[in-house]
Amino acid sequence: MIQDIYPHRLHNEFIADKKAGANDRVFVFDGNNCLVHIDDGQLILPTAAELGAGEYTFLFALDDADYYRAAPPVVKAPEGFEFMKIYDIRHQKTGPREMMFALYTAFHIDKWYKDSVHCGRCGSKTVNSVRERARVCPVCGNTVYPRINPAVIVGIRNGDRILVTKYANRAHVPYYALVAGFTEIGETLEQTVVREVFEEVGLKVKNITYYKSQPWGTASDLLTGFFCDVDGDDTIRMDQGELKIAEWKTAAEIELQPDDYSLTNEMMQLFRDGHI
Ligand SMILES: [Zn+2]
Repeated sequence: MIQDIYPHRLHNEFIADKKAGANDRVFVFDGNNCLVHIDDGQLILPTAAELGAGEYTFLFALDDADYYRAAPPVVKAPEGFEFMKIYDIRHQKTGPREMMFALYTAFHIDKWYKDSVHCGRCGSKTVNSVRERARVCPVCGNTVYPRINPAVIVGIRNGDRILVTKYANRAHVPYYALVAGFTEIGETLEQTVVREVFEEVGLKVKNITYYKSQPWGTASDLLTGFFCDVDGDDTIRMDQGELKIAEWKTAAEIELQPDDYSLTNEMMQLFRDGHI
């Protein structure tokens, strides 16, 4: 999966007031685009020196190298760099994997900073906390922590078949997925599994077991994977607002995604290879 970068390591411990050096690399996002130079399939970011004077916030270290974000966004791209859609960077098989994971993680943190400029309680401008990764409102004292959306991915087994889906609102994604959805307030992850499966495909499930989790920064998600078995009637009643395809597939019929980044893909592969 995208986060499986060993022996590399992403150090996301908060460090207050860390200043960017001239050679430190900087993530610059504009919507779903990132300012990059792709050289022979390798992702290269501009340095602080190449970007010039600006406000740079420390994000994390990848191994020994520090990474920053630019705020506000850089208007003029340095020569050789261009804004590219993160989706396209991924699907051009850009590497290395640890940089792709850094890109997804940086996007998540950057989005949170952009969404947390003002206090949601009183509307005043927030400032960075000096103690932790948080924005603090100097007027009402509200503290805003990074937002992470918990969600489930569900591999529903039915004997020698598993239920695969395609989402209605992701016409640009041609690959199969599994049932998935966000956790509601007041719900356990297992309850999310039961509710989402029933809402999306009208099935009851049993034997719910946790598999693995995955940070998925481009959606601000923490994904949790579960396997379960259909309980009783296996007739699919698809929610056509959410899905365009939902069908039972045998191991031999499963088509994997073109890269091994996603938890969804790993779960489908596990079933295809007879390991679950
Ligand atoms: Zn406030």
